[in-house]
Amino acid sequence: MRQPVTEAFVEALRRLVAPDRVTTGAEALDTYSVDGLAREGHRPDVVVWPDGVDEVAAVARLCDQHLVPLVPRGAGTGYTGGAVPLFGGVVLALERLNRILEIDRSNLLAVVEPNVINGDLQQAVERVGLFYPPDPASLAKSALGGNVAENAGGPRAFKYGTTKRYVLGLEAVLPTGDVITTGGRTVKNVVGYDLTSLLVGSEGTLAIITKIVLRLLPKPLATATLRATFASVSAAAEAVSAVIDRGVEPATLELVDRDSLDAAQAYLGERLAPAGTEALLLIDVDGFASSIDEQASRVDDACRAAGAVEVLRALDAETREALWRVRRELSPALRTIAPLKLNHDVVVPKGRVPELFDLIHDLRQRSGLRIPSFGHAGDGNIHVNVMADPADADQVRRAHEVEQALFRRVIALGGVISGEHGIGFTKIPFVGLQLSPIEIALMRRIKQAFDPRGILNPGKMFPERPAH
Ligand SMILES: Cc1cc2nc3c(=O)[nH]c(=O)nc-3n(C[C@H](O)[C@H](O)[C@H](O)COP(=O)(O)OP(=O)(O)OC[C@H]3O[C@@H](n4cnc5c(N)ncnc54)[C@H](O)[C@@H]3O)c2cc1C
Repeated sequence: MRQPVTEAFVEALRRLVAPDRVTTGAEALDTYSVDGLAREGHRPDVVVWPDGVDEVAAVARLCDQHLVPLVPRGAGTGYTGGAVPLFGGVVLALERLNRILEIDRSNLLAVVEPNVINGDLQQAVERVGLFYPPDPASLAKSALGGNVAENAGGPRAFKYGTTKRYVLGLEAVLPTGDVITTGGRTVKNVVGYDLTSLLVGSEGTLAIITKIVLRLLPKPLATATLRATFASVSAAAEAVSAVIDRGVEPATLELVDRDSLDAAQAYLGERLAPAGTEALLLIDVDGFASSIDEQASRVDDACRAAGAVEVLRALDAETREALWRVRRELSPALRTIAPLKLNHDVVVPKGRVPELFDLIHDLRQRSGLRIPSFGHAGDGNIHVNVMADPADADQVRRAHEVEQALFRRVIALGGVISGEHGIGFTKIPFVGLQLSPIEIALMRRIKQAFDPRGILNPGKMFPERPAH
């Protein structure tokens, strides 16, 4: 049974870490009550900024002894409320654990603390000719610990995979205050259960990650960007298969539908693609300079064969940036359509992307709502945004109906309800559509093994037991 935070508990926290790194001030409690979802605020009782693994362990131990909820937080950009403290308690703000500890060129790895910002690591390794591929659109803000906890993806996941492919080892603090290390610095490791993989994507419900060993790659020497526009989404989706059929594995293969394009054009006040464009593909190919022309020309052929109206190739960084602009501006652009955005990141097997877009079309027709959809067509992961006016109860009802229908039909297509953003608390009502009661019970037993007193990030991932 959870216990409330008392004055004595806050005093004990102050003794464990420096007093100025513990606050119950209203401004901080508000800041740490939301994440990137920015929808529902839940204030913690206290925010603590630990400075190193020993302090993290001491705070965890204290919370465990006093049955006080403890919520780890990275940069707070999560889209499903994972870092939102649903039951008050302590937010463990990891901002001070932000050092790149090592970049090891000969072993192609980096060792980082969890709150190194993704983009900062990318720049640091690129300066020495190395490459860290996972590139969530939030890379300028989100932290690597949060990326690991959510198994973040991004456009480059098509060729390079998601965060999990790059995590070799972890140091983590259990809710009891014990410190464990999993994996290590080697690419191969089959000693015992793979706890590293279990912690990747665990959304701060099993342990607090305090150090990460990340695998790196040599930096690709050249890149080319192509943009192809289509008069139908199905032609664009067909082009995705055609590109792969021609033996090219692009670094990114992103699709933007007309609803999304319209929003970006209205937001920026300029035309970004020819009139009549129903969908566009943004395709990056990378590798040795000698292979780039061959790859780009195969992509060009494939798109034209699938019916592309226009195919452009960027020859310099400035044009490349201009082609990508539409994709980068989508997040703020969508906010101008309607204040409520039910933002989903469903995934279907890549061959079924055309059926997913048929489904979105059908849901649009039936609900009368705008549903701009875009994303990682190459790996079947599409961001489906159901837009509504929260002041209009009927629109909100229809938006929730769309959500239910979307998830049920995505699962029927052999897909999953989230490819990147995780469950947090916002998707809990839908977990039972995807996982069987036996699977959920097994996951609960894993949670129990890591967190016997249920203090770590309660109310996330699956519904709490009625006893709580
Ligand atoms: C504009 C925008 C674009 C985005 N684009 C993408 C995208 O392309 N791909 C994608 O995958 N996501 C995307 N996201 C979602 C979000 O950025 C990712 O989920 C990211 O990985 C969260 O990192 P964070 O540091 O902000 O984590 P937080 O939001 O702080 O936390 C997320 C979860 O991780 C847990 N956590 C954080 N740090 C730790 C730790 N050290 N130990 C244990 N648990 C921890 C928290 O408890 C919480 O459950 C986007 C978000 C925004 C706002």
